[in-house]
Amino acid sequence: MTKRLYLYDADLLAFTATVISIDDTRIELDQTAFYATSGGQPHDTGHITWDSGAAAVIDVRTIDGKVLHTLAGVMPEVGTEIHGVVDADRRMTMMRTHTAMHILCGVIWRDWKRVVTGGSMDALSGRMDFEIEQIPEGFANEVEDLCNVEIKKDRPVEVSFLSRDNAVLDRDLIRTKNNLVPESVEEIRVVDIVGLDRQADGGTHVSSTNQVGRIEITKTESKGKGFKRIRFVLHDD
Ligand SMILES: [Zn+2]
Repeated sequence: MTKRLYLYDADLLAFTATVISIDDTRIELDQTAFYATSGGQPHDTGHITWDSGAAAVIDVRTIDGKVLHTLAGVMPEVGTEIHGVVDADRRMTMMRTHTAMHILCGVIWRDWKRVVTGGSMDALSGRMDFEIEQIPEGFANEVEDLCNVEIKKDRPVEVSFLSRDNAVLDRDLIRTKNNLVPESVEEIRVVDIVGLDRQADGGTHVSSTNQVGRIEITKTESKGKGFKRIRFVLHDD
């Protein structure tokens, strides 16, 4: 099993690790700071180097419980110690966008008591679906303003770990429509935007909300009876 270093330290962008298996152009490492696509957040990119070579990391995904890094370039051998470097710009945009999704989710839960049913994101844009019957007049502008107020408050974003038994007793944590945490998971990672949003989550986030930038709600659309989709983009100012 690969130790996913990003779960413990989202600011860690360089690390050393050992290659433990190889499958065609993919390698498995004993530990990694490269984020593997999951929970709507796309993978990191970057590069690895070792004594006699270097390769770009172009995809990272989990297959059958294994974190596999797809390489472009030459391949290292099993047992090689590698040095990995995560592309900082891409990671930062993903962390900002992921944190923006929590803010959106937190505001809509706090003020409208509506649950999120799904979502996905790319660099500096994303969409989330909510269980909402009818979008009220002026909803998008109101949500946008409320999200930007929360960003400006520069609320801390904290990560902690709870045993599954304690986590399932905490109803605040399981706010998504379906409980996305598999039964087999023993420890639950909790991401807390202090005072706004707290949920079980495996993604990477900025450490305080002001780093997100300004959120703009670009569109609301109906996705069938009772479901509405909200699209947003992030700006640097
Ligand atoms: Zn998250």
